[in-house]
Amino acid sequence: MGAIVEARAATHCPYCALQCGQWVDRSGRVDAREFPANRGGLCQKGWTSGSLLAHPERLTTPLLRASRDAELTPVGWDTALAHVAQRLAAVRAEHGPDAVAVFGAGGLTNEKAYLLGKFARVALGTSQIDYNGRFCMSSAAAAGNRAFGIDRGLPFPVTDLDDADVVVLAGANVAETMPPLMGHLGGARLVVIDPRRTPTAERAIASGGLHLQPVPGTDLVLALGMLHAAVVDGHLDADYLAERTTGFDDAWRVAAQWWPERAERVCGVPATDMRTVVTWLAEASRRYVLTARGAEQHAHGVDTVSSWINLALALGLPGRPGSGFGTITGQGNGQGGREHGQKSDQLPGYRPITDPAAREHVAGVWGVDPDALPGPGRSATELLAALGRPDGPKALLVFGSNVLVSAPNATAVAERLAALDLLVVADVLPGETAMAADVVLPVAQWAEEEGTMTNLEGRVLRRRRALDPPSGVRTDLEVIAGLAAELGVGGFPAEPEKVFEELRAASAGGLADYAGISYDRLDAGEALHWPCPAEEHPGTPRLFTERFAHADGRARLVPVDHTPAAELPDVEYPLRATTGRVLVHYQSGAQTRRVTELAGVVPEAFVEVHPDTAARAGLADGDLARVVSRRGTAQARVRCVASLRPDTVFLPFHFGGDQAANNLTNPALDPISRMPEFKVAAVRLERP
Ligand code: SF4
Repeated sequence: MGAIVEARAATHCPYCALQCGQWVDRSGRVDAREFPANRGGLCQKGWTSGSLLAHPERLTTPLLRASRDAELTPVGWDTALAHVAQRLAAVRAEHGPDAVAVFGAGGLTNEKAYLLGKFARVALGTSQIDYNGRFCMSSAAAAGNRAFGIDRGLPFPVTDLDDADVVVLAGANVAETMPPLMGHLGGARLVVIDPRRTPTAERAIASGGLHLQPVPGTDLVLALGMLHAAVVDGHLDADYLAERTTGFDDAWRVAAQWWPERAERVCGVPATDMRTVVTWLAEASRRYVLTARGAEQHAHGVDTVSSWINLALALGLPGRPGSGFGTITGQGNGQGGREHGQKSDQLPGYRPITDPAAREHVAGVWGVDPDALPGPGRSATELLAALGRPDGPKALLVFGSNVLVSAPNATAVAERLAALDLLVVADVLPGETAMAADVVLPVAQWAEEEGTMTNLEGRVLRRRRALDPPSGVRTDLEVIAGLAAELGVGGFPAEPEKVFEELRAASAGGLADYAGISYDRLDAGEALHWPCPAEEHPGTPRLFTERFAHADGRARLVPVDHTPAAELPDVEYPLRATTGRVLVHYQSGAQTRRVTELAGVVPEAFVEVHPDTAARAGLADGDLARVVSRRGTAQARVRCVASLRPDTVFLPFHFGGDQAANNLTNPALDPISRMPEFKVAAVRLERP
C-alpha cells in the first residue's frame, strides 16, 4: 500500500448510483462534497457510511472452515489463497471448467468488474459468470438496447432535470432511495406510479401532480392506456415519429385495444388520470419519463419498460433538448458494472460475447486465442438454481454480493449454496452469504481503494483512497490477482490504474467506449460521460441529440402487450406482495443494518398492510405477522397503511434469515433479460 498524501480524499458515496460527492479524511470522517449530482447534499446512508470503516464486525483476516460442519477459523492469506486455488483446480479437473462459477456485483468498481470477467474467462476458463445486476437493471438495459441501440441509464446529465416542467416516475421511489435526486426535480410537476403512497408519491401530490396506484404487475397496461390516450386525444408527435423512429404502427396495433377505460379495469388507475398525465406530458415544453425497479422487476419487465419508451417516443421526448426518457440505475456502479464483462453474455465495452469480432478484439487485448474464450453462461438466477446439481457448478466465488438476502426464492438459494463443494466469498463485513462460505476473504472498502465508478448518467468518476485498509485486508483486485497467480496464470495486475488502462483498450470501439478516459483526465476534473473514444474527445453527456444508436439512426417502438404476473392471487394466497427499499437501508442491508443510526430507525423487517386486510387476518398495527408464499415464509412487523391498496402488501428486502422478503419472491424470469419477478408474489398473512 502506498502512503496517503492528502489530508482528505475527494471521492464518492459507497452506496447508490447517484454517487454523491464525498470528502473522506484519514480518520474515515465523511463530509459532503459539492458535485453536480448531489450539490453538496448527502442522504443519511452517505453521511453515516464512514462508521463502517472501523466497524467492530469488520472482517480483517481470511477465514476458512475445514469441513461444512466446522467453524470458520482465521488463517493467513497464503493459506487461504492456496487452499482456494487448490480446491478450484481439483473441481475443474474432476468436472470441467464450467464447474467453477463466479458471481459479481453492481457495486464493484469498473476495474474489479473488468478483472473479474477476465479472471473467469481466462484464468478459470468458465462461462459461468454473472452478477447481481440481473436483479436490478437488466430489464431496463435490454429495453434500452432494443429501442435506442444502446443502454445508458440516463442519456443526459442529471442536472438537465433541473428545468423540467413535468416528470413521470414509473416505479421509482427516489425520495427514499436517492434523496438528493429530488433536488433536481424541485421545479417540476411530478407524476409517481407506484402501488404505495411513498414519500416520492407525497411529493408528487404536493407538486400539483398525481400519484397513480396500479395493481402490482399491471404497469404495462397503464402505459398502453396512456399511449391510447395520446393517440386519440391528438398528442402524437407525428413529425418526430416519422423522422426519428420506426415501429409506431405495430406498437399502435396493440395499444389500440387498450383504451383507457379498459386499461383502468385491469390496472385500477382511473382513465381520467391517464388522460390528464398524457396531456401534461404533451403540453409541457420540458418533460421526462423515468423508470426504475417498479417497472423492471417483472417476468415481463423488458416489455414493461418498452411500453414506457413507446409512450415517450410517441410524444417525441427522447433526444429532444430539455426532454427525454431514462432509467434510474440503483447500485453504485450498476451502469459500469454491466459494461465490462461480468455479465454472462458480455465482454468489455458492452460487447456481445457471441459476436466473433468482439471476441477477437477482447482476446487480442488479453493475449489469448478467441476460440479459447467460453461462450455465454447462465444468468444469475439460473446460475444460483444450478449450483451443486449434477450439471451445475460445484464451486462458487462471490465478490460483493449477498445473494442469501438479495436473490429471489432465498430459501432455495440457501439449499443450493449448501450443496456446493466450495463457496468462497470476498466481503467487507460478515454478511449472511459470507457466513455461509467455506472461505471468507476480507477486502477493502470504498474509502480504502482507488478506482472508477460510472454513475446513473454514464459519467465516469474517480473513487479515491483516503486511508489504508485495516491490517490483514486486501483489495478485491489484489485477491483476484493473487488467485490468478496461485492458479499459475499471468496477466492480472492488482494496480487499479493498470487495470483501467487495459479496460480502456478492451472497451475501445465497443458501445461503452472508455478508450479516451484516463485517470489523469478524471483527476484533472474533466466530466467524462461515455462513449469517449479518444483522449481528445470530450465525452458524450447527451446521447440521441442527432441520431439513435441503431444502424439507421432511428429509435424503435416495440409492439408489447399485457401478460399477467407469473403468479396471481388465489384463495390460498389472496394478496400480492411487492418488495422495495426504505430510506435508511441499502440493498441487502449487510452494511446499513450495522450502522447504529440507520438500524435504529428501521431495526427489523416490516410488512405494510391496509388496515382492513390486516383485520381480516386477525392482525393489528405492531403485531408480528407471518407472510407466506408458495416458496417460503417471512416474519415481519405489521404496519397498517390506509393509503395502500387492500389487495397488496409491501415488504422491504433489506433483511435476512426468517425476515427475508426474498423468502417469498418468485424466481420467474423475464424471457429476454432473465430478471426475476421481485415485484409480484402471491402471499397470505398469518398470525405467527
Ligand atoms: Fe447519495 Fe445514494 Fe449515497 Fe445517499 S446513498 S448519499 S443518495 S449516493
